[in-house]
Amino acid sequence: MSTKTPITVAYGDGIGPEIMTATLNVLEAAGAQLAIEKIEIGEKVYLQGHSAGILPEAWESLRRTKVFLKAPITTPQGGGFKSLNVTTRKMLGLYANIRPTISYHPYVATKHPVMDVVIVRENEEDLYAGIEHQQTDEVVQCLKLISRPGCEKIVRYAFEYARLHNRKKVTCFTKDNIMKLTDGLFHKVFDEIGVEYPDIEKEHWIVDIGAAKLADTPELFDVIVMPNLYGDILSDVAAQIAGSVGLAGSANIGDQCAMFEAIHGSAPRRAGQNLANPSGLLLGAIQMLVHIRQPEVAEKVHNAWLKTIEDGIHTYDIFQEGVSKQKVGTKEFAEAIIARLGQKPEKLKAASYNKEIPAIKINLKEYAPAKKELKGVDVFLSWKKGSAQQLGDQIKSITFGKLKLNMITNRGIKVYPDGLPETFCTDHWRCRYKADNEQNIDYADVIGLLTAVNSQGFEIIKTENLYHLDGQAAFSLGQGQ
Ligand code: NAD
Repeated sequence: MSTKTPITVAYGDGIGPEIMTATLNVLEAAGAQLAIEKIEIGEKVYLQGHSAGILPEAWESLRRTKVFLKAPITTPQGGGFKSLNVTTRKMLGLYANIRPTISYHPYVATKHPVMDVVIVRENEEDLYAGIEHQQTDEVVQCLKLISRPGCEKIVRYAFEYARLHNRKKVTCFTKDNIMKLTDGLFHKVFDEIGVEYPDIEKEHWIVDIGAAKLADTPELFDVIVMPNLYGDILSDVAAQIAGSVGLAGSANIGDQCAMFEAIHGSAPRRAGQNLANPSGLLLGAIQMLVHIRQPEVAEKVHNAWLKTIEDGIHTYDIFQEGVSKQKVGTKEFAEAIIARLGQKPEKLKAASYNKEIPAIKINLKEYAPAKKELKGVDVFLSWKKGSAQQLGDQIKSITFGKLKLNMITNRGIKVYPDGLPETFCTDHWRCRYKADNEQNIDYADVIGLLTAVNSQGFEIIKTENLYHLDGQAAFSLGQGQ
C-alpha cells in the first residue's frame, strides 16, 4: 500500500471552495495519495483582525507538510491588510513562480494557436517588498529591492527548468535601459549564468517591446524569466491570450516548501453559482503531484483534463457556440474529467511526466565582499517654499568637511544648477553632496552635514549613501546630469 503525502489545503474565498472541491474530487478519483490538513485563510481571518489573513496554527501545518494547495482568496479593500499570497511566498522562501501558458486550439478560442510559454517569475523581491512610505505632502515612495542572490536563484532556476524540460530558449525581460542598477543587476546575472548553459539559446528584451512581442507572437518564446512585477502582469496577459486566465495554474517553489495555485483570483461575482472553471487550480494541482513524486497520477489527471477540453465539455468562460459541445458547471466539469480518467487526448498533445525529473536545487556562488568607499550622500528634503534656484542658493551655503552640494534633483531630474524653468517640481528634493575629486568621506561627515542642514530649518526625510564598489560608482546619475 502506498503511503499518503501530507499536504496543506486552503479552500479560500469566492469561487475558491467550489474549484477546490472539484479539484480534490478529481485527484481522489485518480488515486492521488494525499493526507490533507485543512487550514482557514483569507477574508474571514482578515476580518477577525489578523492583518496577514492567516493564523499561527496554519503556519505550523505549512511548515510540517511543506506542500500547500491553495485556492484564491479575497484581500479586503483598504489599508491594514497585507497580501497573504505575497506573505506566504516570502515567509516560506518560495522564490520561483512557474506559470505555464498553453493554447488549446481549436478547442479553446485563442488568437494564438501555437503558444506554449513558461513564465518563470521572481517571487520574493522587487516592488513586492511592500516597503512604502509617504515622504512629503505630495510624494509617496515604494522601494524596489533587487538582490544578487535573488537574481541568481531565479535565473539559474529558469535555466535548470529549461534543461530538465527540454526547452530550447530562455528569454529575459527587464527595463535596464532605465533602471540600470536594479534591473541592470538582473540582466547582468542572466548574462553571467547563461554562459554556463551553452546548450540553451538566450536572449534579452526590454520589457515593453518584449511584452508587445509576447502578446503579438508568443510562438517566438519558450521560457521567459522576469523580475516579480513584470512576471505578475505578463503571466496574466499570457494566460488570457492563450485562452483564459481561468486555464492557468502556477507553482511557487522554494528550497524547502512549495505552494500550488491558480493564477486567477477569487472572482467574487461568480461565487456560489457552480460557474467557475476549476482548470487553473487543477493544473496547479498537477504540478503539485509531480513535485510530490506522484507523476503517474499527474499524467492521468492531465490527460483526462485535456480529453475533456477536446471533447468540448466547457465551462462558461471558454464556451464557444459551434466549437464547444456542452456548457457545464464546475461540478459537472470535474465529473467529466473523472469519467475520462485513463483516456488520452486524440488531437491535443498528451501530457507525459518523466519520472526521472529531479527537484531543482540551487547553490549560490560565494563572493569576496567588494571594496566599499563612501563618496557622498543624497539628502532628501521636504520643501515647498520656492523654486529649485532658490533652494539651491540657500542650501549651497551649507557644507561640512569635504562635503559640498553637487546637484539637486526633483523626481530624479536635475533642477540645480542649470535647471530649466519648464521642469515641474514637487515638494520632494534630492540634494546630492559629494567631496571634490571623488575623495572618500566617512559617515561622521554625513552626520555632521545632516546636523548642519537640520539646524538651518530644512526637513530631512531620508538619506542614501553614495558608494563606490571596487572603484565603480554604485549609484545613478541625475537625469540631465
Ligand atoms: P479575478 O481573477 O478573481 O477575476 C478576473 C476575471 O476573471 C473575472 O471576470 C472573473 O469572472 C474571471 N475569472 C477568474 N477566474 C475564473 C475562473 N476560474 N473561471 C471563470 N472565470 C474566472 O480577479 P479580480 O476580480 O481582480 O480579483 C478578485 C479578488 O481576488 C480580489 O480580492 C483579489 O485580491 C483576489 N486575488 C487573489 C489571488 C490569489 O489568491 N492568488 C490572485 C489575484 C486576485
